[in-house]
Amino acid sequence: MTPNLQAIVDEIVAAMAAETERGAPARYIPGLAALSTDRFGMAVVTADGATAMGGDAEMPFSIQSISKVFALTMALGKIGDQLWRRVGREPSGNAFNSIVQLEAEHGIPRNPFINAGAIVVADVNLSGHMPRESIGELLRFVRFLADDETIVVDEAIARGEAETGYRNIALANYMRAFGNIHHSVELVLGCYFHQCAIAMSCLQLAMAGRFLMLDGMQPGAGRVISPRRARRINALMLTCGHYDASGDFAFRIGMPGKSGVGGGILAVVPGKASIAVWSPGLNASGNSQLGTLALERLAEATGWSIFRAR
Ligand code: GLN
Repeated sequence: MTPNLQAIVDEIVAAMAAETERGAPARYIPGLAALSTDRFGMAVVTADGATAMGGDAEMPFSIQSISKVFALTMALGKIGDQLWRRVGREPSGNAFNSIVQLEAEHGIPRNPFINAGAIVVADVNLSGHMPRESIGELLRFVRFLADDETIVVDEAIARGEAETGYRNIALANYMRAFGNIHHSVELVLGCYFHQCAIAMSCLQLAMAGRFLMLDGMQPGAGRVISPRRARRINALMLTCGHYDASGDFAFRIGMPGKSGVGGGILAVVPGKASIAVWSPGLNASGNSQLGTLALERLAEATGWSIFRAR
């Protein structure tokens, strides 16, 4: 373990408590709007199995778009590279819920981490299943990755989003018109809203991300995916994981990362660490304000970066 990792985390937790610029919670999902921006948690699991954490690291929150990483991993397991006929692999340069590129690009979303792409992934995962089974399958996968059977879906958040998810309903219908959604829009979105409403703590998320730091191996459980697939998912997280702020995240933090509007971020340093941070206040791009800052501090303090020689 990096010497003093717990001390570094403690220092970051203290520094975040003193920050005044804390962003604002997502307002368009009932249930997220009322979250306090005072919350901050961080958990780090290293490649050698050590854990350091602080603040609200064990408090469950809505993982929202971080679920897109697990859903993508599952969809690739089901249909492999055929997925790339229906979803691209380029950063969108647009907001996570943008519809603008879909018309010119014939209903093929730019990548699996923007909403449109994740809705296609949910459609793939639904094939051959009832929606309840599809969600159950994803939940079992996440529990397996985190090695924690207590992880559940926050039904109230899922319901709230279904009631107000007009943009996602528009995206799904628009892609269905191009033939890129194969099931009923209502069923696909039901799955998508439930996956976004999975509640996990920073510790559980950092545990669930271990396979991405270890070339697809899950400590204690064996291989989850091939090294090549792990490398590719990390590449997508780096280039697309923070929407139109992905470049800035790579510049400041230098790690593959995936954010969610619940205020969580999962970040991976291959060979070194799986990290999760949470603070509900978001910046203008819809990514956690303090979460991003905390990861920047951690990268500075540890030297962790995929762009460094050691
Ligand atoms: N459930 C959210 C949505 O579809 C997820 C977005 C996010 O976390 N960026 O709008």
